Amino acid sequence: MPPTVAGDGAAPAAPPSVGAGRIDLVRELGVRVGADAVLITHADDIRWAVGFTGSNGVLVVPGGVGSLSTAHFVTDGRYRAQARAEVDAAEVHVPEGSLVDYVTAAGLLGGAGRVAVQADRLTVAQLDRYRRALPEIEFVPVEELLSAAVAAKDGAAIEAVRRAQALTCEVFDAILPFLGPGVSERDVAAEIVYQHLRRGASAMAFEPIVASGPRGALPHARPSSRTISPGELVVIDMGCVLDGYCSDLTRTVAVGAEPHPAAREAYGLVQEAHRAAIAAARAGMLGGELDAVARDVIDDAGLGEAFSHSLGHGVGLDVHEWPRLSQQVEHRLPVGATVTVEPGVYLPDRFGIRIEDVIALREGGADNLTPLPTDLLVV
Ligand code: ZN
Ligand code: ZN
Repeated sequence: MPPTVAGDGAAPAAPPSVGAGRIDLVRELGVRVGADAVLITHADDIRWAVGFTGSNGVLVVPGGVGSLSTAHFVTDGRYRAQARAEVDAAEVHVPEGSLVDYVTAAGLLGGAGRVAVQADRLTVAQLDRYRRALPEIEFVPVEELLSAAVAAKDGAAIEAVRRAQALTCEVFDAILPFLGPGVSERDVAAEIVYQHLRRGASAMAFEPIVASGPRGALPHARPSSRTISPGELVVIDMGCVLDGYCSDLTRTVAVGAEPHPAAREAYGLVQEAHRAAIAAARAGMLGGELDAVARDVIDDAGLGEAFSHSLGHGVGLDVHEWPRLSQQVEHRLPVGATVTVEPGVYLPDRFGIRIEDVIALREGGADNLTPLPTDLLVV
């Protein structure tokens, strides 16, 4: 789906696999910001660090050596068996009652003076509770503490994104016969959800976007009761969750009849911008540089203003991850980052076009994880 706004990120890091190596990396990132310990509270980041797939928990990573370096994972009674089965790299605690109270009462933060917390992953209320319970500790909110480390995916994570993306491509093929004049956007969206779940997705990564005719000019349009007319373009943006990892795919199709020549021409332009960006993509470049490759193609055709969002975003355990492919931030793309490339052209009251693939960045290039052609289909 089209990128949303987030803050700046940190430097790229190497991708150790789940477990002790990642705990060490978290500890090192804490040291870099002058903290004695790190508190990880976001479910996706906990999954990344220790492999726990539940939705509630706190990971405490002290900065000490020897026994003081043991990481602690605290979760609630619902996850007792699951946590013990999944988590090896940290000592598992399953207290009765509040996790925050337990972390503080059990002294898991030990003698730490400064504790780094995830500014963009912890609520103000949660932070207040830690500060009230442990007034002697300085809790330091750090933005995007783990973002670059999480973005630098190992082979297993890239394959997981590839499988999720392949599933969504299958769904795209499966819904084509369903598209036709007189079908409503909401009907198409329902079919998209149904086909994903039938094929093994555990959930949708986001509500599908199905935007027909002039509604296609709204990049984040929600499916409505509007029915599709012959010759209209329909923007279909969808993604699922499979084995914890997300997909994100957009195709724009013409329904029922050949589209207006201006729409076909604009489609060719977006396709060219998409192709150029994927050909230029490689690890080590700035997200903004890659954005510029696509934007230049659309600018040169005089439609720069109609490309109203940034080029893409990271996709992984979360559907909108660091890095952003945007002029607004300086995110250097690490090896192993899986990112979307999704240029678009939106002409108010007329039509919208977006084409989106997910690619994996490596030294010197990128691998497209999206086994689906981009040529305009008239269905
Ligand atoms: Zn998308
Ligand atoms: Zn997207």
